[in-house]
Amino acid sequence: MKKQRTGIFWFTNDLRLHDNPALMRANIMVDCLVCVYVIDFSWRSSSQYSLSSSGKRSKLFLQESLNDLSQSLNAIGQQLLVIDSNAFIALEDLIKRIDASDLFRSDNAGWYENRTWQALKENNDAVNFHSVDSHTLFDLESLPFGLANLPSSFTKFKNAVSNIEPLTPIEAISFLPLPPPNCDINLGHVYKPPTNHQFSNQFKGGETHGLAHLNDYFATEKPQTYKQTRNAIDGWDNSTKLSPWLANGCLSARTVMSTLSQYEKNTAANESTYWINFELLWREYFQWYAHKNGSKLFSFSGIKGLSPLNSYYPERFQKWINGSTPYPLVNACMNELRETGYLSNRGRQIVASCFVNELAMDWRYGAAYFEQVLIDYDVASNWANWQYLAGVGADTRDKRHFNLEKQTQQFDPDGRYITLWNGDLSLLPLDSVDAADWPIS
Ligand SMILES: Cc1cc2nc3c(=O)[nH]c(=O)nc-3n(C[C@H](O)[C@H](O)[C@H](O)COP(=O)(O)OP(=O)(O)OC[C@H]3O[C@@H](n4cnc5c(N)ncnc54)[C@H](O)[C@@H]3O)c2cc1C
Repeated sequence: MKKQRTGIFWFTNDLRLHDNPALMRANIMVDCLVCVYVIDFSWRSSSQYSLSSSGKRSKLFLQESLNDLSQSLNAIGQQLLVIDSNAFIALEDLIKRIDASDLFRSDNAGWYENRTWQALKENNDAVNFHSVDSHTLFDLESLPFGLANLPSSFTKFKNAVSNIEPLTPIEAISFLPLPPPNCDINLGHVYKPPTNHQFSNQFKGGETHGLAHLNDYFATEKPQTYKQTRNAIDGWDNSTKLSPWLANGCLSARTVMSTLSQYEKNTAANESTYWINFELLWREYFQWYAHKNGSKLFSFSGIKGLSPLNSYYPERFQKWINGSTPYPLVNACMNELRETGYLSNRGRQIVASCFVNELAMDWRYGAAYFEQVLIDYDVASNWANWQYLAGVGADTRDKRHFNLEKQTQQFDPDGRYITLWNGDLSLLPLDSVDAADWPIS
């Protein structure tokens, strides 16, 4: 008799049933399936950069997303196992226990994630490994260049892909093979949403909320004014606010792109709708940039191999995090980020520029803090944007320096945002010990 094929589907940044080609492949290929999510913060760089573990808002968003996924899986007879452990150890153990024939996941741009995948592959000759592109608009085969020849700037990338269509989203999964009969014994815990759970703010994690937000946004006229409003320092309606769902994979980028195309066909197409497309291509570029550059994404000298004259100053780092620098606009942004886990693109640029220029800090500490607190943390988008701002990334220009006074006049002329987020402290100097106080040797 033919041996049954038992698969493991390892959910990572694809917490959804719609447009999930990796899950579809598992659906077709195996007879029994275990769905698993591993909470592994050892991939996160927090401890390396003097930070504690992940932020409260980002944890909550993830928890909400897992709740939603678990409920969707239950509705089709499946279940989600959540294992709180090192991913390599957890998956290695699971493969052995259920005698898995296949391991599936969505492709990932993260270097640490890929290292784990590779190590599992090397340790399990008898298992078939399947990693499928689902976090990106294109797959590697449809790009008009090999990864080694990824264009060196966003503009060149955009021009190179201008004639190819993003992949069409596939239908939502409505059926999956069941788990093997013995599967929930000591493998982890079958996910049960907490009963006293309270949604935090307008960003509610999960595919259901992501799809609802996408449909709501494209049922309005907001996309038609996106280009004029997207740069604002705050305001729910000024940009799409899709990033947390995209980053966690509650929404597929292909689904977002196809919804945008439908809107352009059926409702309106103008410079603003084009600009949403443009920003999604930035995201796309950074995904492939991360795939190509591997561990260089986290290196001080970046992909340019430069050595900025920046360093690590513990007091400055703490003041930046706490929103107690001498710069009210920066403080307001940092307070919003800490409390909500979200910050506008303009706000991110301002605080990152201040970090690198006014505070002369090593950019990786700023990126690691963002990694800890952002609800839309995405390994590629975060570290590549920081490299760009710090002048060590995909930018032909030197680092970006924003004039904080000008930014304040332009984006918060009446001080409303600074007041709202309590940025105007009785201002203290940046360093508590003045250089003049140091004894002369
Ligand atoms: C220092 C720094 C760190 C960042 N870290 C992240 C991160 O970890 N995760 C993340 O998703 N974005 C990151 N961004 C990019 C950008 O700030 C956010 O994607 C955007 O603010 C999210 O809000 P939105 O969904 O309303 O964006 P919109 O303006 O509505 O844009 C639509 C979508 O396009 C994509 N996008 C827009 N701008 C960028 C960009 N510069 N780079 C990559 N993708 C972009 C996002 O997926 C976004 O949801 C970072 C930017 C900076 C300057």
